[in-house]
Amino acid sequence: MNVAVTGGLGSGKSTVSKILAVAMSAEHLDTDQLCRQQMQRGNPGFNAFLQVFGNRYLLDDGSLNRQLLRQAVFADSGVKNELEAILHPLVRKQVAEYYTHCCTVGKSLVVEVPLLFEVGWQKDFAMCVVVYVPEELCFSRVAVRDGFSVSEIQRVCATQLPLSEKLKFAHFVIDNSGTFVSTVQQVAWFKKNLQAGQQPK
Ligand code: ADP
Repeated sequence: MNVAVTGGLGSGKSTVSKILAVAMSAEHLDTDQLCRQQMQRGNPGFNAFLQVFGNRYLLDDGSLNRQLLRQAVFADSGVKNELEAILHPLVRKQVAEYYTHCCTVGKSLVVEVPLLFEVGWQKDFAMCVVVYVPEELCFSRVAVRDGFSVSEIQRVCATQLPLSEKLKFAHFVIDNSGTFVSTVQQVAWFKKNLQAGQQPK
């Protein structure tokens, strides 16, 4: 089985997907991390990026100037769209190929996909789990984790579907606003229902 874990910035996707992968004895992938790997020099994403953007966003040593590119993505939706058009198909294919491998070795796969519904990948997965946390708590956790200001966090959130909308597409919702223990218990409940062959509620 393959399970996607999504949610808002700082809602706890990474936390929940890792707990879930351990609970299911599953493999784990993080699509943000796959995007970053694609953009390393010599990888397919980086090569395709060079074809489109040339050396506009490179450092003197030929590697990617991530800070400059991040600023451009925020400032110019054209850059964002072109970058996504390069990376999304590559990452989607990587996830599919890895899931094929998991199936051959009899393992499940848990995949963290921040923009699951925005990019329309939900049908690729047997289960879509949304991690929910009220906005103010997301903001304070992200501020602690990344040192971002509220306006920076709001800018990122504005590019995503509101968490309230994501909840409508969920097969299962994990409320991560409580303690880690509470989250682990909800993950255990989800897994128990999966094993029983029931749609978790
Ligand atoms: P996301 O992957 O959605 O951006 P993370 O899983 O990285 O979110 O969680 C954001 C921050 O909140 C991290 O610093 C994480 O350790 C913290 N965090 C996650 N879940 C909880 C929780 N239940 N209680 C307290 N802190 C949490």
